[in-house]
Amino acid sequence: MPEVFQLGLIGHPVKHSLSPLLHEAALLYLGLKGEYRLFDIAPENLESSLAEIAKRGLRGVNVTIPHKQAVMPFLTELSEEAGYVGAVNTIVFDDGGRSRKGHNTDVYGFSKSLSEALERERIDTQWSKSVVVVGCGGAARAVVAGLCELGYFDISVYGRDSEKAQTFVSSLAKSMGSKGDLLLQSNLLRVIANLEDENALRNKFLLVNATPMGQDSKPLPDWFSACVAKLDRRALIYDLVYSRMDMATPLEDLAQSKGYASIDGLDMLIYQAARAFEIWTGRAVPAECMKEALERLGRC
Ligand code: NAP
Repeated sequence: MPEVFQLGLIGHPVKHSLSPLLHEAALLYLGLKGEYRLFDIAPENLESSLAEIAKRGLRGVNVTIPHKQAVMPFLTELSEEAGYVGAVNTIVFDDGGRSRKGHNTDVYGFSKSLSEALERERIDTQWSKSVVVVGCGGAARAVVAGLCELGYFDISVYGRDSEKAQTFVSSLAKSMGSKGDLLLQSNLLRVIANLEDENALRNKFLLVNATPMGQDSKPLPDWFSACVAKLDRRALIYDLVYSRMDMATPLEDLAQSKGYASIDGLDMLIYQAARAFEIWTGRAVPAECMKEALERLGRC
């Protein structure tokens, strides 16, 4: 184990990331030496920049948009979760950077934060075990894996592009099918956007927004607000988006105004970071220390 933990984030862009704050709080809490640096890497430079970073003696990096899937061919090994999700958000370097193992801690971040929210909000999951996921990108893959880990196998995914939605379902059905009796369906977003199927939302106990809609406080499209209103009042609304300031996301605002329980993506962000930190350092860090760092900045 290195005595100084050189950590970082690769993505494009990366400058607004909260990850340095979370990981530096963890280093400080545990009295470990190290730093967390941001590497803005354009997609066309991914392979060469990763090789260069790996040689520099870093313990590991987090991976964010747009590299979570693109980085996989440049790794030497995948964890079981990264393999079945088909996306990587954490890399560990060993052997002078020659060994590069990819992990996916978003799955843990999502499942841990969801199970806590279900308990905190006393969500009744007896009447329905069905979930609707809006979006079919990298984060949605971790969401589906996290739902399966918690035993929620009836999942309807809505995407803008039918080809992407179908590829999403076929690849995950193959990799996740062994985990349980998976009923994963893909649909076009317009089915719920135009409220073409009245039952598409009514019998779901959970709606997950796995798109950037509402990010940076941008107003939600009207169709999305109309969808939310179709959910059963007992449903939980989970917005993967999180606000950088101490305020609710537009989807949370809407959920609260209509009387739904809701959660934003901040807890997922914290838990995925805590798990990545443990993988790199071998030391468990309480999520509280990361939450407090966010609170000090007025962001939690
Ligand atoms: P991604 O791979 O780019 O996927 C985004 C998905 O959203 C795609 O299906 C995309 O459709 C769809 N989409 C984008 N804009 C849309 C719009 N205006 N209307 C409808 N659909 C739209 O991104 P990602 O990595 O999955 O991230 C999605 C969101 O989750 C981001 O806001 C990200 O910050 C957040 N996230 C949060 C955490 C956390 O820890 N809280 C972790 C990961 C991600 P197309 O493919 O057709 O473009």
